[in-house]
Amino acid sequence: MSNENKTIHEFDISLICEYFSSTERQGPGSPEATIKALSFIDNLTPESRIVDLGCGTGGQTMTLAQNAPGQITGLDLFPDFISRFNQNATKLNLQERVGGIVGSMDDLPFQEEELDLIWSEGAIYNIGFERGLTEWRKFLKTGGYVAVSEASWFTETRPAEISEFWMAAYPEIDTIPNNVAIMQKTGYVPVASFILPENCWTDHYHAPQISVQEAFLKKHAGNTTAEELVAFQRHEAQLYAKYKAYYGYVFYIGKKI
Ligand code: SAH
Repeated sequence: MSNENKTIHEFDISLICEYFSSTERQGPGSPEATIKALSFIDNLTPESRIVDLGCGTGGQTMTLAQNAPGQITGLDLFPDFISRFNQNATKLNLQERVGGIVGSMDDLPFQEEELDLIWSEGAIYNIGFERGLTEWRKFLKTGGYVAVSEASWFTETRPAEISEFWMAAYPEIDTIPNNVAIMQKTGYVPVASFILPENCWTDHYHAPQISVQEAFLKKHAGNTTAEELVAFQRHEAQLYAKYKAYYGYVFYIGKKI
């Protein structure tokens, strides 16, 4: 199978973790986009319970913590990301309010109606947008918020090359109005949605990978899987440059009623 037909899920997990644990973010986003999404959420207090699902090494979680009150738990499937997350929290002196735990977003260790805010950037695709919104809702208090970013189509139709790429990677990718309708159908008032600016991909996601790729290839010289992983990431960045008019990441903010 050529690397271009592979999806990211088919690479060796420990190699993916090693590759991404050296970058600040594991998906498109920026501190400005996190703060903008936060601006649609009211009523947070120092007692608020906030979780960040699929937090990775915590780039966006630390921004959240610096801009919102409350106790924040980051949850991710991969222990290496969580160790890095907890080191980052300590470095920023946020360890009293921010803690990372290993867990899965399809089996959350929280009580029903315990949470004020569920955050998830570039991660809900792991269980699917509709399933995530549906299953996570019971953990929120009435009046609590969900804020997730998700890859979305900008247009009704799109060129075959990019359509095929996404159908292999994540066939549930949908248009913005369809995702807003899903949010409403699953029991939230859609409060806001906005497209993440291009710099969330270029400056904050693709550019920091360039030096990581060089070091990674040197370290794993001759390892075909490592070479294919880098080729896949480069291909993904090239596709974005070519087809960014047709898709991007969108933040969706909803309130449980
Ligand atoms: N939110 C971070 C990371 C996004 S990448 C950022 O924006 O930078 C997606 C993350 O989801 C990865 O860290 C991956 O380890 C995590 N993940 C994948 N499947 C998961 C699951 N079932 N439960 C929790 N986290 C998961």
